Amino acid sequence: MRIVLAILSMVIFGVLGVFPTSFADTLIKDARIIDGTGKPAFLGSVRISGERIVSIGDLIPTSDDTIFDAKGLTLTPGFIDTHSHHDWGLSENRDALAVITQGITTSIFGQDGFHHFPLQASIDAFRERPVSMNIASYIGHNTLRDTVMGEGAQREATRDEISAMKTVLRAEMAAGAIGLSTGLEYEPGMYSTSGEVIELAQVTASLGGRYISHIRSEDRFFWSAINEIINIGRQTGMPVQISHIKLASKEIWGQTDKLLNILNNARAEGVNITADIYPYEYWQSTLWVLLPERDADDLDEIQNVLDNITPSDGIIFMVYGPDPSYVGKTLADISVLRGLSDAQTFSELLKESDAWQEEHQSQGQSIMGKSMLPHDIGELMKWEHTNICTDGGFEGHPRGYGAFPRFLSYFVKGMSLMSLEEAIRHATSLAAHNMGLKDRGEIKVDAYADLILFDEDTIKDNASLENRSAISDGLKMVWVNGQLALNQGQATHHYSGKVIK
Ligand SMILES: [Zn+2]
Repeated sequence: MRIVLAILSMVIFGVLGVFPTSFADTLIKDARIIDGTGKPAFLGSVRISGERIVSIGDLIPTSDDTIFDAKGLTLTPGFIDTHSHHDWGLSENRDALAVITQGITTSIFGQDGFHHFPLQASIDAFRERPVSMNIASYIGHNTLRDTVMGEGAQREATRDEISAMKTVLRAEMAAGAIGLSTGLEYEPGMYSTSGEVIELAQVTASLGGRYISHIRSEDRFFWSAINEIINIGRQTGMPVQISHIKLASKEIWGQTDKLLNILNNARAEGVNITADIYPYEYWQSTLWVLLPERDADDLDEIQNVLDNITPSDGIIFMVYGPDPSYVGKTLADISVLRGLSDAQTFSELLKESDAWQEEHQSQGQSIMGKSMLPHDIGELMKWEHTNICTDGGFEGHPRGYGAFPRFLSYFVKGMSLMSLEEAIRHATSLAAHNMGLKDRGEIKVDAYADLILFDEDTIKDNASLENRSAISDGLKMVWVNGQLALNQGQATHHYSGKVIK
């Protein structure tokens, strides 16, 4: 087949004197190969032809090969980010260096219940102007609610509205989505009943989809939120994934055994439940997410939040519309500036930013909140069904730039959490399995050649609270569908990413 292609391409391109490099094979030789399955590393070479891996082992170079001498660097499958917000701003940032330099070759969008509607239009736009990495998307429940219920969706949906949502969901799934995502801690999904979610989930299951959820609570009502997602898995029989699993309040800190027991019991019962996680103690969201009753005047409840969920010096403003000088400051800093208690300041900032948001039709506030313990994060990461994600974007939390290298350097190496082989499994084949992606996440013959080559001694995140968009160290080469996206740490401007279903 290759010979036929070569002759054909000589006929087509010979006249012009242009010979497309994509017809030559790529040989990555003498790499330390970690194949993504958890198997021990081995020395060897990998040959890529077109988009796929064609052979692995002790390979002899041919004159057709473009050769990359890996010199013992580590070659693994590209990382799969199962919870990404890099869709925002991607069309103006096709190199996506923040993503590619983490080793990510596939990003999954449509998270927390929000997707680009209609999906077909965003897929068409992507195919017209592809980017460095592959993408796939869920259909967002919040977006369905917004589409069908419009303004005033802060209530339960009627029968008619649920059936209208099902119609939109079917059409969106047909455009090529992998499943349904919910964000039940956010408007307007938080106003839905479990029954509504189950009905939509059943439609998704009947179409061969899966379910992923930012669950209804990550703190006060955590255990019932966990029960809700298990029940959705039980009722529908489809795979369900907990987004960015965490224990995010004092009350539940340290209860990883209890949580993993519940999840393992559900699995033993036949519920296909999995999770993803990002390697940071800080989350990013809004102040509102801390107040399920959405009452900015309830100072007792706000004080309860500061005492039990995230302290005032652990709340850092990322966006503050009414006064951008607050960005980077903590709630504790701002309380001092205003001469008010932390709870009063919290309440004032909420109301001011809401009014500003209403007037400017632009996000009024966003915060990072420190609510998790490194030990809990490590224990949850080790669960054999937890894959790694960023939950990050091109702006905001450093996780958008550093999550995967931080997982490897801080957690895997720094905390001796697991072997590198097992860590790579959590970032590749497990993620592919949890998302239902075929022929990705493993170095094997006939798999897509999504590959990364890095230095395991130097791979490290640099993005921090002070410098949130610092690029990570250690990634040398990245191939996406057989094409180089990153060469010696530099973007190649080859946009070989695909839409995956
Ligand atoms: Zn989320």
